[in-house]
Parts: sequence; structure tokens; C-alpha cells
Amino acid sequence: MNDPGFKCAICGKPVGDSYVCLDRRTESLATSEQGEKVMTTVNIACCQTMFIYCSNPCWDAHAPNVAAELQVAKPYPSFGLIAPCSRCGGPVNRTVPYLNYTVSELKFIQTTPYLSAQCLDDRDFAILCTNCEEPDTELGAEASEILTTGEKQR
Ligand SMILES: [Zn+2]
Ligand SMILES: [Zn+2]
Repeated sequence: MNDPGFKCAICGKPVGDSYVCLDRRTESLATSEQGEKVMTTVNIACCQTMFIYCSNPCWDAHAPNVAAELQVAKPYPSFGLIAPCSRCGGPVNRTVPYLNYTVSELKFIQTTPYLSAQCLDDRDFAILCTNCEEPDTELGAEASEILTTGEKQR
């Protein structure tokens, strides 16, 4: 993602107000009981945008290639704290960090003075067990935390 203009990975057109992106996330789920309901929280340790598309049709056109690249036979896994790995079918314990390739639909919103993006839709495309792919480490975040502490001590 070196191009600041955000061009579609498929048709090459600059993306408009809303766009679709494929993220590689290292995440884990946590549950907590709130009265009768069980709330699920997603903790994202690392997130890396791999591709940006101008629209859902462009993503749909690329999806088979991405699935082939990731060696995913059955994309869009079912939701659950234990779900089958999209590559080998083995169990993925989603309460410990694992890799999740997600497709998000985003919309730019102008909130002066910054331009930010609002998430309209977020779908799991493929989840991988730790045998298939190691989750990304949190080194980046830890390193910056240590750095901040170091600066405070100075
Ligand atoms: Zn496009
Ligand atoms: Zn697997």
C-alpha cells in the first residue's frame, strides 16, 4: 500500500467514498456475560491491509485467486469459538490468537480536521489454525510500549 491514492487492485480505478479491503489480522475472541447475554469481543493484535478494491464486484472477481493463494477450500467460515480451519479443517480455538483474513466494506467520512473511515460490513473470509500459519507476533506493539515507557523515564 504505497500508493496514497488508493487504487483498486483489480480494475486500477481510484477508489471512491466507499471501498472494500482485505485485511490479514491476528486476533482472538473473548467472551463476557452481561446478564442473560454473552458478549463477544474481538481483540486485534495485528492488522495489515493486503488489497483494496473499489467495489464488491471487484473483490468478488479477486476472491477465487485469494482463496487459491491461501489454499483455502471453503472460504467464509461459520462463526463459533471453535471453528474449522479454512485450509486443513482442523479446529481453530478462537480464544487464543489466530490468523483471520477479513473482508471489510468501508466508507470514508469527513470528520474535521481528519478523514477517517467507518466500517459498514466486516466478513471473515478465512481463518487459519496455528499449524497452517503462525499468527503474527505482537512484537510491534510491545516494542512501541517499551519505547513509550523508556521515554517517560527520561
Ligand atoms: Zn475495481
Ligand atoms: Zn489448518
